[in-house]
Amino acid sequence: MSKPDVLAVAKLHPFYQQALETVYTVHDRTHITDPAAFAALAPRIVGVAGTGEASVPRSLLAQVTNAKVVSVFGVGYDGVDVAAAIEHGIPVTHTPDVLTDDVADLAMGLVLSVGRTIPQADQFVRAGQWPTGPIALGRKVSGARLGIVGLGRIGKAIARRAQGFGMSIAYTARSEKTDSGFKFFATPAELAANVDFLVVITPGGAGTKHLINAGVLQALGPRGFLINVARGSVVDEEALIAALQNGTIAGAGLDVFANEPHVPEALWAMNNVVLTPHMASATTETRQAMADLAFANMQAGTSGQPLRTPVPECAALLK
Ligand code: NDP
Repeated sequence: MSKPDVLAVAKLHPFYQQALETVYTVHDRTHITDPAAFAALAPRIVGVAGTGEASVPRSLLAQVTNAKVVSVFGVGYDGVDVAAAIEHGIPVTHTPDVLTDDVADLAMGLVLSVGRTIPQADQFVRAGQWPTGPIALGRKVSGARLGIVGLGRIGKAIARRAQGFGMSIAYTARSEKTDSGFKFFATPAELAANVDFLVVITPGGAGTKHLINAGVLQALGPRGFLINVARGSVVDEEALIAALQNGTIAGAGLDVFANEPHVPEALWAMNNVVLTPHMASATTETRQAMADLAFANMQAGTSGQPLRTPVPECAALLK
C-alpha cells in the first residue's frame, strides 16, 4: 500500500525528515520546485511539515484541500498564515517547551560571551597575541541588570538562569506578570534605559517587527549590550548596525538575522559583536525532542487524534 503524502515546505531537520519517511511519502518543496506537478499532487497532501520561519502562505493552504494539519518543527510559526489555515480548517501545531532550556542556555551564553569577550579572547590566544599584552577588560555579568523583552516560556527560563548569576531582572511583555516578582516596564525603550543587558525573546511576525528600533538602542546606551535570540525581524538591523558603529550601544550577541542565512558584512568585521547561526535549539537532545513532537503532531493530525501541541490560536478553536 502506498504511503500517504505530506509536503515539506522547507528543508527539514534530518530527525524530522527520517521520522516522517517511516510513515509518509515526503514531497520536498515540490510546490516551489515543480508547481505544475504540485497542482496535481496537492489534493493528495494530508499534512504540511514546516520549520520555524518557513513560508506556508494562504495560496498554498488553499491548494492542499485535504490537509489535516500543518506541523511546524519549532516553537515560532511566523511563516505560517495561521488565519488562512484556520479559515481552511487546517490546525497548526508547533514544538513549545522542549527547546526552552536550550534557547535560554544560549541566551546566557551570549550574555557571557559579549560581556566577557570569550570569542574575542579565544581569537586573541589563537593569533599568538597573548605575549604581546593583556586583553581589553570585559564587562562584569554577575550582579548586572538584565532586561528581558518577552517573559514567556523562554524568557522565564532565562530569568531563572540569570538569578543564578545574581542579576537583577526586569522585563517587558504585552501584559504585566504580577506573579513573576520581576519589575515590569511598559515599553522596550523604558526597559532598555534601566538595564545593562537587553535580551530579546518574543515571537517574530508583524506584531513585533522592529520592536527594537533606534530609540530603544539609544535608551540602552553606550554601556548596554543587546542579545537577540528571538527573530531577526524583531530588531531593526540597519539601526542596530548604526548603533554598533557609532558606539550608541556597547555590543551585541546575535543568533538571528533579518535575511538568514545572510548576515550583513558590516557585522562580520565588528569586534564588539558575537554572531551565531540561528542555533539556539541546536543540540542533539533537543532537536530529537522537537522531531519527536513534530512527528507526533503530524501523526495525530493525519489520523484524527487529538493534537499534542496546537498553536494557541488553534488550541482555542479545537476546544
Ligand atoms: P511564548 O509565547 O511563551 O512567549 C512569548 C513572549 O513574548 C510573551 O511573554 C509575550 O507577551 C511576548 N510578546 C509577544 N508579542 C510582544 C510584543 N509585541 N511586545 C512585547 N512582548 C511581546 O514563546 P516562547 O518563549 O516559547 O518563544 C519565544 C520566541 O522565541 C519564539 O516565538 C521564537 O520566535 C523564538 N525562538 C528562537 C529560537 C532560536 O533558535 N533563536 C528557538 C526557539 C524560539 P505576553 O506574555 O504578554 O503575551
